Amino acid sequence: MNVLLKKRKKILLISLIITALLPVGLYFFEVFLPDSWCLPAFELARASRGLNQYEIQVEFNPDAKTLTCHQKVEYINRSQDSLSHLYFHLHPNAYRYENKPVFEKNEMEQAYPDGFSPGLLEVDEVVIDGEQAEYVVGGFSENILMLILKGSLEPGDKTVIEMDYRVILPYCLGRFGYGKNMYKAVNWYPIASVYDERGWNLDRYYTIGDPFYSDAANYRVRIQAPAGYTIAATGEIKEKREEGQHLIWEFSAQAVRDFAWLAGNRFQTISKKAGRTTVTSYYFTEDAGKKALEYAVESMAYFNEAFGEYPYPRFNVVESDFFIGGMEYPNLIMLDHDLYKSNNSDYLELVTVHETAHQWWYGLVGSNQITDAWLDEGLTEYSTVLYYGHRYGQEKEEEVYQNIIGKGKYNNLQFFTYSNDIDETIHRPTYEFSSWVIYDLLVYGKGAMLFHSLREKMGDQLFFQGLRLYFQENRFGNAGKTDIIRAFSQVTGQDWQQHFDQWLYDYE
Ligand SMILES: [Zn+2]
Repeated sequence: MNVLLKKRKKILLISLIITALLPVGLYFFEVFLPDSWCLPAFELARASRGLNQYEIQVEFNPDAKTLTCHQKVEYINRSQDSLSHLYFHLHPNAYRYENKPVFEKNEMEQAYPDGFSPGLLEVDEVVIDGEQAEYVVGGFSENILMLILKGSLEPGDKTVIEMDYRVILPYCLGRFGYGKNMYKAVNWYPIASVYDERGWNLDRYYTIGDPFYSDAANYRVRIQAPAGYTIAATGEIKEKREEGQHLIWEFSAQAVRDFAWLAGNRFQTISKKAGRTTVTSYYFTEDAGKKALEYAVESMAYFNEAFGEYPYPRFNVVESDFFIGGMEYPNLIMLDHDLYKSNNSDYLELVTVHETAHQWWYGLVGSNQITDAWLDEGLTEYSTVLYYGHRYGQEKEEEVYQNIIGKGKYNNLQFFTYSNDIDETIHRPTYEFSSWVIYDLLVYGKGAMLFHSLREKMGDQLFFQGLRLYFQENRFGNAGKTDIIRAFSQVTGQDWQQHFDQWLYDYE
């Protein structure tokens, strides 16, 4: 045996030891180290443990405007109660009946340019743990699926639910459906309703606000689409392969609170990194598609620094047929095609930044968007103001802030002319607001003022510390009023309950 061989043996032995210890080390790294030390990939792996797991297979037929789906959900009872029933929301059924529309009267023409077009989800079969299951479809517009369990599901126990269903996409320029340029499969599949301290949350798809409330879950979604279509979705593309006349797209997403996808056969794409995230703009209007990318990258880089790092590998910004303006989904935002017109660049920036901020306040830190809409919308609107200050300076920040709150009664009489509703309470369920205008003035405008006043009182350093703590403690979960007050109180050593209550409730 020569010296060289001895050395080689030693190297081999060391490599073997390292290889053997690596999984142990990684496990230790993932489980025991504090959040702030962990890489986003580990954070996601850790956050994804113990969450519901969705596997969905979709046949997308753009000619027939249908999605034919098979869905398997590993549902875990994460509550302290034993459950005899499980509930899922069937959001597409909110688009089913013309006499129960999801839009205000004056929006119907914009939403349905060719007249009303029904969208729906029809459940064909449900199998639970391998056996045919009993179920009931009910609710305001048949938007709730109730599954009757054979025995009760105890805390910590898991059950496997399989469903076959068919979705019809409406010709509709609201969130769900399709337009002239693309298809919008958003809020499109049976999603588990949230069971929290109030019990099951079975709200309907209200006209005002974003009527969604969900828990983070893991997803694997396989979509069979005709060749020539491009799909932008939540999560990462794991595989894309040809199969005859079709393309098979496989997506995977960890610890996201919804899965959305948009498809079109005219999309061009352009990508750029922001932190660890690859941001991609999907567009069919050339110059503005690049602008949208710039706004998303700039705001994402700033929010990473200001609030805490975005842990997901992908973020997609998609030009859409969506007359309302902008809408947020996990790892995906849709922006109306009108914003991409050359004279709308300022609005494109404002809306892109707002929807990007929702990736933190809605996507990562979730909340009940029906009962606590102020929490994500007020904070998102104010985060948008902060971006302008960071990128363009104090004067621009003040201008944008005044524009946002200037829409409110605080600077003009617009508020009173729209409605007799002069209750200034912003912390109330979305269905108690009399119109989108009032909702916007209070939840977005006065909501932003609440955070502005908080920042003025405690100063920038503590304000941002408070936001980072709120983010750190509540990401991947659902937060409420007490969680945000606790974060600010903790960093300042002072109780902010009264500040919040004064802004949230009408004391006049
Ligand atoms: Zn918003």
